[in-house]
This record gives sequence, structure tokens and C-alpha cells, in this order.
Amino acid sequence: MKAWIVTTSAAIGSLIDLAREVDPEPVALVLGAASVADAVARSGVGRVVWAETSGPVEAYRGAVASLVAEAGADLVLVPASDAERALAGGLAVALDAPLLTLPIGLKNGLMTHGVHGGIAERTVAVERAVLVADGGGLVDSGTSVVVERVVLASASGLEIVDSQPAPAASVDLGTSRRIVAVGRGVRAAEDLAVIGDLAARLGADVACSRPISGLGWLPHDRVIGLTGRRVAPELYVALGVSGQLQHVVGVRSSGVVVAVNTDAASPLFGEVDYGVVGDLYEIVPALIRALS
Ligand SMILES: Cc1cc2nc3c(=O)[nH]c(=O)nc-3n(C[C@H](O)[C@H](O)[C@H](O)COP(=O)(O)OP(=O)(O)OC[C@H]3O[C@@H](n4cnc5c(N)ncnc54)[C@H](O)[C@@H]3O)c2cc1C
Repeated sequence: MKAWIVTTSAAIGSLIDLAREVDPEPVALVLGAASVADAVARSGVGRVVWAETSGPVEAYRGAVASLVAEAGADLVLVPASDAERALAGGLAVALDAPLLTLPIGLKNGLMTHGVHGGIAERTVAVERAVLVADGGGLVDSGTSVVVERVVLASASGLEIVDSQPAPAASVDLGTSRRIVAVGRGVRAAEDLAVIGDLAARLGADVACSRPISGLGWLPHDRVIGLTGRRVAPELYVALGVSGQLQHVVGVRSSGVVVAVNTDAASPLFGEVDYGVVGDLYEIVPALIRALS
């Protein structure tokens, strides 16, 4: 198998290790800065191809796909940064190859990779694929290969017209010691005030399931789960959260997990240390009274 790593960053140590499981001399295609190409040339890959780029890197998906297809690459490995993830999706479409994430190991044409946010592993037969994985760190092998320059065309119709820093996060839930999370069991945005009262008494940060952020009741940085934060507080209290897999995957490293839900069959009850089958509109005021 031939492996190509497509990257804008020199921090690709893990990708090189993964690529070497099928190809002892993987090729790195560096998009962007010459200094990155020079650093990658010292990382121990077999060849470095460098293309100077400008604008969004995903605009080069067509040219990159042609290059790796002409080279006969079976496996294209891409680091899991925002820019490269967008590129990887485009490459998979252009190459008509499956896009796989969270790779764990690759042997004899079989790849094991994480699914459902990494809580399960699956092994698939792979002949050709685009893999998105954690890039890893910088590697200096002590020797260097020549950087081969190529010119790649960018797709027309895609240009950056403005860029702004994202608003600062309102809280870093990854460091929270205690969390009170709310789900669709809460009926109205105004009801979050009483939840905030309980959280304050517990010394906890308020978090939520994705639908609550979708309603605009709390910002996205409060979402816990697959598309939100993975958290590890000592106490996690879930109020009116059903416990779908996409939420639970973010909670698994918590210490004590408590859930309040009217539905005794709620999946979250399978994950908790303490479960209260009851109405949060009765339980929360009772807890506030008990803590007062
Ligand atoms: C690709 C993908 C990624 C996703 N990523 C995430 C993610 O990162 N995070 C996330 O949270 N979700 C995510 N989701 C959505 C997820 O699948 C669920 O839809 C979501 O977690 C459900 O939110 P919920 O528990 O608040 O709502 P529901 O599933 O509607 O549950 C509400 C719960 O409240 C209970 N309830 C109702 N009234 C009361 C009451 N008065 N007192 C107590 N309990 C009550 C109900 O019994 C029910 O169990 C994702 C989905 C997809 C497809």
C-alpha cells in the first residue's frame, strides 16, 4: 500500500507512525508555508512534496485528489484540525474513497477505528481510504529529504472575504469540578434561572444537551457530548436529559453521576450512581431548600 499524508502542519508524528504500518516510506504533501515543508522534511518521511497555497485549504481538494490519485496512493492521512477536516471530506468525495476517523491500528488490509465518538471500536477491510486522525507531535529524525515543489490550482469560487476571532468561551467545562446539565425536560428558557440557583449552591457550572443550545437558551460551549465538550467533573447532575449516546459519550469520565428524569426507562439511568425518577420542577426546588 502507498500512503500519503496531506498536511498544513509539521506536527504529524502520529500520522507518520500510522502510515508506516502500511508503507515504510510514506509521502508527505505539505500545503502552505515553506517552513512547514522544511520541518516535515526532517521528520523521517520518504518524500516531501510542497505546494504554496493561499485561502481556504479545502479549495485545493481537486488538485490534491488528482496528485495523490496519479501517485497511486491507497491511503491518504489527514490531521484532525479544522482546516484539514474540511479538506479530508472533499478529498474523500473527489477520490470516491471512504472517510474514516479515529484510527487505532492498521494491519493486513484491516483497519480498527473508533466509532460513536470513540466509545466503541470497529474493524473494517480497507483497500483505499481517507483517514482523519490526531496529527501527533513534531518529529526530528536527524536527517532530511529534499523538498519537491509543485504548483496546485485552487478551485474558483471559494475565497476568504472576512475572518474574525470566535467569541471567547463563557466557561471551560473541561476544567469544571461540578456540573449541572439541563436537557429538554426543561420547558422554558426562563426556567434556567432556578437551575442556575441550584448550580450556584452546588458550586457547579451549568451545561446542557445539544437541543438546549439549538434553541438558543445556552451557548454552544455549554453543550456536553460528541459535538460538545467531554467533561470529567467530580459531580455531574443531569436534569431532564434522556442520555442519548451522543450526550453520554461526553460524560463517561465523570465521578459521581446523578440524574433526575420523569421516565424510569431513560437510558441515562443506566449510567448513573444516583437516579431520581421524578419531575425536575419538584426535585430542583426541593434540592435548593435542602441546600439552603
Ligand atoms: C451527529 C450527532 C451529534 C450529536 N451530538 C450531541 C452532543 O454533543 N450532545 C448532546 O447532548 N446531544 C447530541 N446529539 C443529540 C442527541 O442525539 C439527543 O437528541 C440529545 O442529547 C437529546 O437531548 P435531551 O436529552 O435534552 O432531550 P430528549 O432526548 O428529548 O430528553 C428529554 C428528557 O427529559 C425528560 N423529562 C421531560 N420532562 C421532565 C421533567 N419535568 N422532569 C425530569 N425529566 C423530564 C424526558 O423523560 C426525557 O428523557 C447529537 C446528535 C447527532 C445526530
